[in-house]
Amino acid sequence: MGVEDLPLREDLRGRSPYGAPQLDVPVALNTNENPYAPSPELAAALARNVEQTAAGLNRYPDRDATRLRAALADYLGHGLDPGRVWAANGSNEVLQQILQAFGGPGRTALGFEPSYSMHPVISRVTCTDWVPVDRTGTDFGLDAGAAVDAVRRHRPDVVFLTSPNNPTGASLPLETVAAVAAAAPGMVVVDEAYAEFRREGTPSALTLLAEHPRLIVSRTMSKAFALAGARVGYLAAHPAVVDALQLVRLPYHLSAITQVVAATALEFADELLGQVKQLRQERDSLVEWLRGHGFAVAASDANFVLFGDFADRSAVWRGMLERGVLVREVGPPHTLRVTVGTPEEMSAFRTALLEVTAR
Ligand code: PMP
Repeated sequence: MGVEDLPLREDLRGRSPYGAPQLDVPVALNTNENPYAPSPELAAALARNVEQTAAGLNRYPDRDATRLRAALADYLGHGLDPGRVWAANGSNEVLQQILQAFGGPGRTALGFEPSYSMHPVISRVTCTDWVPVDRTGTDFGLDAGAAVDAVRRHRPDVVFLTSPNNPTGASLPLETVAAVAAAAPGMVVVDEAYAEFRREGTPSALTLLAEHPRLIVSRTMSKAFALAGARVGYLAAHPAVVDALQLVRLPYHLSAITQVVAATALEFADELLGQVKQLRQERDSLVEWLRGHGFAVAASDANFVLFGDFADRSAVWRGMLERGVLVREVGPPHTLRVTVGTPEEMSAFRTALLEVTAR
C-alpha cells in the first residue's frame, strides 16, 4: 500500500515532504547550520542541567516555558518581557502556530519570492491560501512601493517578510517593514532567523514592535546559537498575539529537556555570539573572494551566500558533491547557495569550486 491508497486529504495528494538531502559528506554547507559544535564547557553545562531535569521527567513540563521565555526576553532586549515572547520547537513550529491562529481555511498568506520555501508549505498544511509575489528590486531586494501595493491589492491575513532573506541573503530596510506593517490589514511576520548575522547598521524589526501591534518577529536558536539539533524557535510580539497563540499550541509542546537546553545555551550567549562574529567575517571574505573570481554574488546579512551565474547549476552542484562539498541547489535558476562554515571547510569549498568551474 502506498500513500495514494490512503484516505489522505485531497490537497496533500501528490506532494513530497520538504527537506534538504541529509547526506554524509565531509563538508556539509547546505542547510545554514552553524559549523561550531557546543564548546566542552557548554556541553558539560547542558549535561549537568539535563541530568537534573531528567530526575523530574515523570511530570509534564512547564506549559508556559516561563523561565525560558524570561531568558529569551532578556536576550532580545528592547524592553521585552516574557509576556511578549513565545517559544516552540524551531521557528518552523512558531510559524505554524501563527498560521493556525491567523490563517486557515478561507484565509491567505502572502510572501515575496524567492524566500524561505517553508512559508508556502506551512501555509498549505494549515489550509491557508498562499499568494506569491515576486521580489522585483535589484539584487533580489524588495521594492517598498511594490510590496505595499501587493499588500493593498491582495489584503492577505498574514504577510511574511524574511529579513535577512533566505536564500538571497540581504536584510530589509526598516522603512520597508514599517511601510508593509502600516499597509497590512492582518498580521505581519518578520522572519529574522538569521538576525544575528546582519552587517553593521541594519536594525532589527524588534524596534518596530511598540508601534505595530500586529507585527511579529520570529527568531531561532538554530543558527546563531548553534542549536539546530535542539529545535528551539521563538517570537516577540504584542502580549495579545502571545495570548492568541495559546489557543492553537498543544499543551506541553516544548519538552522540559528542550526548555532547559535552550535556557542553558542562552547563558553562553557571549561565547556563541563571538563565533557569530567570526562567521560574519568569514562570510564577508567569501563574498569578496567569489566576486574576485567573477561570480555573481548577492549581498548577504546571513550565514550563507547565494552565488552564480551557472548555465547548468545542477552540474556544478554534482561536481562539488563529488569533491565532498555539499551546497544547496535553491533560489533563482542559475544560482547555488553555500552556508558559511569553518575556515577549513571554506577552503575546501573554494578549491572544489575552482576545479568544478575550471577558473
Ligand atoms: N526561517 C528561515 C528563513 C529559515 O531559513 C529557517 C531554517 N532554515 C527557519 C525559519 C526554520 O528554522 P528552525 O525551525 O530550525 O528554527
